[in-house]
Amino acid sequence: MKDRVSQLCEPLIVENPCVRLRYWQLITNKLVQCNELLRWCPSPNCSYATKAIYGETRLIRCKCVYKFCFICNNDWHDPVKCHWLK
Ligand SMILES: [Zn+2]
Ligand SMILES: [Zn+2]
Repeated sequence: MKDRVSQLCEPLIVENPCVRLRYWQLITNKLVQCNELLRWCPSPNCSYATKAIYGETRLIRCKCVYKFCFICNNDWHDPVKCHWLK
């Protein structure tokens, strides 16, 4: 499945792999910051960003199978409300 992140990076032709990685990180960071539906996976071993489906549940399932809360970025805590965790 192609997401917007990979589509946006395709026009970039950078030969040096290190530079390319740097570009990739800059672009994805920017995209995630600008897109309120994107969240970085909070799992320490995971570098995926996951897009929430607007209007759907707050549950985010990352590709790494980690589940977390879209609102507070904690482990998925249904049926506990986000503010109860504080
Ligand atoms: Zn993940
Ligand atoms: Zn929450």
